Amino acid sequence: MDSPRRIYMDYAATTPVDPRVLEAMMPYFKERFGNASSRHHAWGWEAEEATVMAREEVAQLIGAVAREIIFTSGATESNNLALRGVAEFHGIDGGAIVSSPVEHSSVLNAVRALAERDHTIHFLPIDSEGRVLLQGIDEIPNSTLLISVMLANHETGVLQPVEEIGRMCKERGILFHIDATQAVGKIPIAVDRLGADLLSLSGHKIYGPKGVGALYIRSRKPRVRLRALIEGGGQERGFRSGTLNVPGIAGLGAACRLAREQLEMDREQITRQRDELQRRLMSISGVHVHGGNAERVCHILNISAKDLTGEGLLTRLKGVAVSTGSACASGSLEPSHVLTAMGVAPQRARNAIRFSLGRMTTDEEVVASAYEMERAIVEARSAVSRKFADP
Ligand code: PMP
Repeated sequence: MDSPRRIYMDYAATTPVDPRVLEAMMPYFKERFGNASSRHHAWGWEAEEATVMAREEVAQLIGAVAREIIFTSGATESNNLALRGVAEFHGIDGGAIVSSPVEHSSVLNAVRALAERDHTIHFLPIDSEGRVLLQGIDEIPNSTLLISVMLANHETGVLQPVEEIGRMCKERGILFHIDATQAVGKIPIAVDRLGADLLSLSGHKIYGPKGVGALYIRSRKPRVRLRALIEGGGQERGFRSGTLNVPGIAGLGAACRLAREQLEMDREQITRQRDELQRRLMSISGVHVHGGNAERVCHILNISAKDLTGEGLLTRLKGVAVSTGSACASGSLEPSHVLTAMGVAPQRARNAIRFSLGRMTTDEEVVASAYEMERAIVEARSAVSRKFADP
């Protein structure tokens, strides 16, 4: 008997490792297993060389220089290092930490943790698409130390006006951190053009391995100063101690190289497929696209079907892997903090479903998942009307 068909539409949660990435990693699990900090033998040199190459690839992808790249365990750690590292280096009198209400939980909870330690925090206002309102920046305290705003939202794909924010930060001498996790490999990124002093990214969202990421820390003037969260042997210029995850780093480097080489091809294909999926889903009555009036990154489509909860719909959506809200928030029945901050009523926010496409998505999968979604909606609606029709 054929196994039931499965379609993966959750690339914003994680991506498969590209076979070319896996190939680049393999030697560092096997014969090249050395510790990149071992200075006195070839095993160490080979491992170190892999990290040098990878650092160069990450830097090239975002327009930085290699020494500005610090390897971490992923974007959660990068975001924590950026926010808590800067705040703790400067202390509670160093100035306010500013962010937006639609950030990923790794930023929001790091900001909340700083508030608990008596740092002054401030959230910028947003519009109904979830974009930061630039007027809000005029109103933040003059003493602001750092602003953290993401590039592309993980639930809606909506792009933030980061270039403008970066310019305003420069004018006022405020540090600017960008969580670019969902934008890397989807749109061209140049840290100088964006005015970024710090920028986070993650391997497993760009066909690299899980458990590895990077933080760009500007080292050209004005240099960013921050305190390490992890103390130890002083690896990564003292910003992040611990033996380097060499296979993971080699994989991240290969993933960044492919992201750079394939960016236009990936973007063209995924945009076309996302638009087609959106067109098909929008033709179903009562379906709404969240963030649909804003400029969005190509791979994310967030929809809701009137009167049908996301959780309920997922039980009927057979074989199509999507998520309700963000993966990290899945399993919680709380409506998405991103959608509610955008002013979506909690009732409607509970209906949200995120489709996210990737390099391996086929046109046929797009058609099949739209069809499957329509079937699930029709089935759920008739179940609801049967319930009300029953005496
Ligand atoms: N920021 C954003 C915008 C994300 O989408 C994610 C992953 N869900 C993260 C940060 C955390 O990344 P990681 O899984 O690498 O810790």
